[in-house]
Amino acid sequence: MSLQDIQDKISKAEKEAGRDAGSVELIAVSKVQPDARVQAVLQDGHRVFGENRVQEAAGKWPAFKDAFSGVSVHLIGPLQSNKARQAMELFDAIHTLDRLKLANTIARLAQELGACPDLFVQVNTGAEDQKAGVLPQETDGFIAECRALDLPVKGLMCIPPVDEEASLHFALLAKIAARNDLGGLSMGMSGDFERAVALGATHVRVGSAIFGDRAYEL
Ligand SMILES: *Cc1c(COP(=O)(O)O)cnc(C)c1O
Repeated sequence: MSLQDIQDKISKAEKEAGRDAGSVELIAVSKVQPDARVQAVLQDGHRVFGENRVQEAAGKWPAFKDAFSGVSVHLIGPLQSNKARQAMELFDAIHTLDRLKLANTIARLAQELGACPDLFVQVNTGAEDQKAGVLPQETDGFIAECRALDLPVKGLMCIPPVDEEASLHFALLAKIAARNDLGGLSMGMSGDFERAVALGATHVRVGSAIFGDRAYEL
């Protein structure tokens, strides 16, 4: 599928859900993709991208940002505290805030740098052992702790379990966000972004449907 096909599907899903046109941001997930494919999407005019790894992003985005104006890059993969500074300098948004230690580190660095990327709290909606994220029942408390640190928390993010109906997880994430007065919802990937839009996603993270299959999985 082309970038335009995905945009069209998002527009249709927005309309069907009675949402404003353009209310959903498409994050093109460029992890592991060859530079030529990423460049082609930039040349098509797309400007919002997602990466999983700080190191990989540091290797390719500074040059792309020099070559194309108005680019923003979102971190959608796990972040270690010792990479927080580099991540805050590199990314416009971090979708994987998931523990107090990291929140404290980001808060300290935000003071020092005088700036902070938009933050999303990752929620482990399926309570999966192997998955990062705050447990649903601990999310209200964690958001309050982040707010006490003055962190710019804009919303919540989830990656539903592969073997469950994603809509249930999207609905749960939307419910937790609403009761915490958070407007941002980062949810939906190549296989389920239209369902995510129907349930209120403000950011969908679409990789393989735009770029083709990844050469290898992270
Ligand atoms: C890789 C990845 C995506 C994109 O997945 P696709 O299925 O290729 O659309 C979205 N979100 C996260 C957190 C990812 O790691």
